[in-house]
Amino acid sequence: MSQLPRVLVDAMLGRLVTYLRMCGYDAVYSPDEELESDDALHEFARAENRTLLTRDRELAARARDAVLLESRDIEDQLAELDAAGFELELPEEPRRCSNCNGRVEPVAPTETTPEYAPTAAETDIWRCEACGQHFWKGSHWDDVARRLAGR
Ligand SMILES: [Zn+2]
Repeated sequence: MSQLPRVLVDAMLGRLVTYLRMCGYDAVYSPDEELESDDALHEFARAENRTLLTRDRELAARARDAVLLESRDIEDQLAELDAAGFELELPEEPRRCSNCNGRVEPVAPTETTPEYAPTAAETDIWRCEACGQHFWKGSHWDDVARRLAGR
């Protein structure tokens, strides 16, 4: 398994956090942890040894380990991360829940799946250990793969 840096993503980068999780990053989204002050963000990043991703110049300057993103646009943000050396590729199998950052585990073909998901007998399904959300490589997965490859 590759060594992806653990990251803390600040509140202005809500779309990016989904992409990072889909790429297998352990990516904490600051509003999920109710990190509202700059001090709280810095403390959390330091305690958990996470790289801070932010659009806030001052915040980035004060962090021990941070990447400052300048763009508002998701595609440009991905390009900036790529330039900063981040690996942006979908893994063979999903690893992280795009909703909550929990680890995902494969669902056995004999297990039942919720209404919104295909059956595990017809396609590979993963379930988040933390929130129970089910995932499969559907059209959304393909869209993200295309967008990441298109840069
Ligand atoms: Zn989850």
